[in-house]
Amino acid sequence: MYFSAKLRLSGSCTSCRLSCLASPQKNSPNTLIAFGLAKSCGSIACGEIRQQVKVRHDMSDASSCWGECRGAVSLSFDDGRATQLEHAIPMLDDRGLRGTFYISSPIAGDNWQDAIAPWQAVARTGHEIGNHSLTHTCSVNFGFCKDGGLEAMTIEAIEADILAAQERLELVAPDQDQWTFAYPCYQTFVGRGAERKSYVPVIAKHFLCGRAKAEYGTAAKPAVCDLSAVGAIGAEGMSGPEMIGLCEVITSRGEWLNLCFHEIDGANLSVTRSDLAMLLDYLKRNESEILTAPLVEIASKISAFQADL
Ligand SMILES: [Zn+2]
Repeated sequence: MYFSAKLRLSGSCTSCRLSCLASPQKNSPNTLIAFGLAKSCGSIACGEIRQQVKVRHDMSDASSCWGECRGAVSLSFDDGRATQLEHAIPMLDDRGLRGTFYISSPIAGDNWQDAIAPWQAVARTGHEIGNHSLTHTCSVNFGFCKDGGLEAMTIEAIEADILAAQERLELVAPDQDQWTFAYPCYQTFVGRGAERKSYVPVIAKHFLCGRAKAEYGTAAKPAVCDLSAVGAIGAEGMSGPEMIGLCEVITSRGEWLNLCFHEIDGANLSVTRSDLAMLLDYLKRNESEILTAPLVEIASKISAFQADL
């Protein structure tokens, strides 16, 4: 089966007043913003900017993975930041949508037993809680990493760190029986130079799925993706139309888009509340065509689908 879409865009949206500068480059942010504008408001005014976007892909390998839907989207939120509790969770709950929360700092401090209480409530309402390691160690090139960062770690040390996090997380979400992992800073290695190694095999051993980084505009193909290192796209700084454009293009290919968030209306790696609301309203409106679910549920579907191939 082939899905094809044609879109001719011109000028600015009369509803949300955002303008699009459509680019001939496929998967460029501006092209995706143009797609998103058309889908979020359905109203594009005539103007001097003209762009035609075509999507034509073979979806036959994905059609039985998603049931009636054409593709999947998951929304993951990293680190356990306060603005997620304050904004993202109520916004998801209001629309009956569920996300994945990779919490690290709430389980890492001295008072972690107290800090996990709000996240226990999040788990009870059906959101997924995920492992993001205990110490959130990234490359030493990040200023916040002490003790030499990932370059100074061994496979044994990173495995111990992740399993220590898991012990605490199982107190956060005691009823959760399957777990996924998000690589801190999307980085999948330990060691340096000739001793540098991937720790993806550690994640494959302990988790249903590991979330790594995707190149902009790319996503996981259900028939062939490696669940231990599926790609995610960081949403920080994106507008609602751009995120919607990514959803449109990637789900039209029968693939799984994983958007990664940090702060909502916050100071660091942030997406605004109004842009997130635009995305969530779009996903709710299109729930019969786009499966929106926590990583663990999408990864379970892919795992079963790949086993039957
Ligand atoms: Zn993180």
